[in-house]
Amino acid sequence: MSLPVQERLRELGLWPRWRLRARPAQAASAAPAVSEGPAEIARMDWEALRRAVLTCTRCALHRSRTQGVFGVGDPRAEWLIVGEAPGAEEDRQGEPFVGQAGRLLDAMLAAIGLKRGDNVYIANVLKSRPPGNRDPSPEEVAACLPYLERQIDLIGPKLILAVGRFAAQSLLTTDTAIGRLRGRVHRYRGIPLIVTYHPAYLLRNPADKARAWEDLVLARRTMAAILAGRPV
Ligand code: SF4
Repeated sequence: MSLPVQERLRELGLWPRWRLRARPAQAASAAPAVSEGPAEIARMDWEALRRAVLTCTRCALHRSRTQGVFGVGDPRAEWLIVGEAPGAEEDRQGEPFVGQAGRLLDAMLAAIGLKRGDNVYIANVLKSRPPGNRDPSPEEVAACLPYLERQIDLIGPKLILAVGRFAAQSLLTTDTAIGRLRGRVHRYRGIPLIVTYHPAYLLRNPADKARAWEDLVLARRTMAAILAGRPV
């Protein structure tokens, strides 16, 4: 960290280093629709998994989505960022965390020395957009979660950052409020997991950016301990 904390926080508030990212073309799959069950999903390799998401009909969201949003980044990343579900822009572009919230997420990652696509993978719990950005239903989560679980198996991240109430509660199987989940290291199937606010929430509640910064510092410190072989 070459800049003092105050400067990093200022960056989070002002996002002075935004860059429009080049959008990789979304590969349209010509494969027929498939709706494999959890046991089949749990055996898929990366490409089969990606194709299965893009053609998935396991829940009703496939009818209203523009496309499935598989995820983006380094499939061997040490860092895994998990959000909720695609919004309107993600649904259009086929990539998670784009638009204003995505730019803030990129600024948050930059604040701890990370960059989208570079040792970072970004995915959502839900791969298809709920209409009107409503909360996903428990049935939709149950149908979609096997895809994220398999992504986690294949990536093998050293640390998961769950952004937002929905991602945290889905991965930790709890209804505890996000304010009580923050500030400590949880485990998801043995992988250290840290909870922070969703960037879309932070855009509406900028006063909580300082708390998000605390979460990022905890995440960075936890990763340093993991890499050094210290207990976390
Ligand atoms: S949300 Fe998940 S389970 Fe539902 S259609 Fe999309 S990819 Fe399939």
